[in-house]
Amino acid sequence: MAFENLTERLSKALKNLTGRGKINEEDLQASLREIRLALLEADVSYSTVKKFIDQIRQKAKGTEILDGLNGAQQVIKVVNDELTALMGEEAVPLNKSEKIPTTIMMAGLQGAGKTTTIAKLAYKLKKEDNARPLLIAADVYRPAAIDQLEILGKDLGVPVFSQGTDVDPREIVKAGLQEAKANKNDYVLIDTAGRLQIDAELMAELKDIEQIAQPDEVLLTVDAMTGQNATETAQGFANELSLTGVVLTKLDGDTRGGAALSIRDVTGKPIKFVGQGEKPTDLDVFYPDRMASRILGMGDIMTLIEKAQRETDEKKQAEQLEKMRLNTFDFNDFIEQLHQVQNMGPMEDLIKMIPGMAGNPALANLKIDEKQFTHMEAIVSSMTKAEREDPDLLNPSRRRRLAAGAGRPIVEVNKMIKQFDQMRKMMNQASNGNFSGMESMMGQ
Ligand code: GDP
Repeated sequence: MAFENLTERLSKALKNLTGRGKINEEDLQASLREIRLALLEADVSYSTVKKFIDQIRQKAKGTEILDGLNGAQQVIKVVNDELTALMGEEAVPLNKSEKIPTTIMMAGLQGAGKTTTIAKLAYKLKKEDNARPLLIAADVYRPAAIDQLEILGKDLGVPVFSQGTDVDPREIVKAGLQEAKANKNDYVLIDTAGRLQIDAELMAELKDIEQIAQPDEVLLTVDAMTGQNATETAQGFANELSLTGVVLTKLDGDTRGGAALSIRDVTGKPIKFVGQGEKPTDLDVFYPDRMASRILGMGDIMTLIEKAQRETDEKKQAEQLEKMRLNTFDFNDFIEQLHQVQNMGPMEDLIKMIPGMAGNPALANLKIDEKQFTHMEAIVSSMTKAEREDPDLLNPSRRRRLAAGAGRPIVEVNKMIKQFDQMRKMMNQASNGNFSGMESMMGQ
């Protein structure tokens, strides 16, 4: 998986912080050093890393992170926010021309994935916009490129304009555009030649095609597997062409992922799509915030934390966190948490924010019976003060008494106590920076 090492190392750096209540300057510096190394190892460009760490250091100081029990969460939030900002804040949609056709020119080194990406884009446009694209095969340099595009086009039911490999690509583009006009195609996607490295002849050809086609989009296809080179290549193309965006391919591979982090910063161009496989369906819109969460291995836990912060009293929350950490979280806290969670919105929505849960098909039609909360409350109110504070006292005869007192079956009492134990364990782990317990608790 892409980012595996980076995610692991960043999680470790942040875990060192979450293990403690208060963080001091020294802890913070140590974590920043770890984060810096993790990014450099993932092939993020040196200047980007430097800028990034400086930003985090400044923000951490600015928000008085070193005070209060919540310091670790705040650092994680700052890192998450800065990662998102680094990748561009928001998804940037494809440019669309006022009049047809919208012209998209694809550029990139040989093997970066231009031809494959054109097919993916054509599929996406056809499916989502009901578009009628025309593909122009202007890569006369790589022998099989034209055949490849023709086969892909045939599979997708999308026409391909080609004139073989003996015609100058500038002429092919001119003729292709004429054809698109005549057929009233609403999109034109131009596949251009690549080289193993940027060279002057290639750039001259691409600049001419850009001049002729006046494209609404000049998308650079960059292979994420090429690490540091990916960023350099992107910069090389950005210097010569009026790039409007980048498609980062092969993010499904075992890439270290640095390109995703540096490209926007180095070229000033947004990543618009990511390729995550070889099939026409394997193209995704690039969302910087989701990518940041993915890199941090956190699902959408940040939204959850923010929601919790909005809904709960800060001091109470700090107390509860400390209790989770020390494993003294009891049934009184459990009930208080139930109330807080109920205030945060429908349970079904919350569960999906837990890492690993969002795409879980088993949860697609999940409905949680809110009456269960009332039953749980009834069981807890039947407990003595001592039992609430020390759940380990709850032996079978006490459990029978609770069942009778709450008017619920004994199996339900047992189930709730079991869930409570699991929750306590998981919270203890999570407050120490390990979120993996949550998934196993949800039966993953
Ligand atoms: P071009 O020379 O730039 O046109 O590159 P191609 O489109 O021919 O792609 C080169 C190779 O990379 C092909 O074998 C593609 O199947 C593969 N490829 C392209 N995009 C992706 C991707 O997102 N993931 C994976 N795993 N392979 C890809």
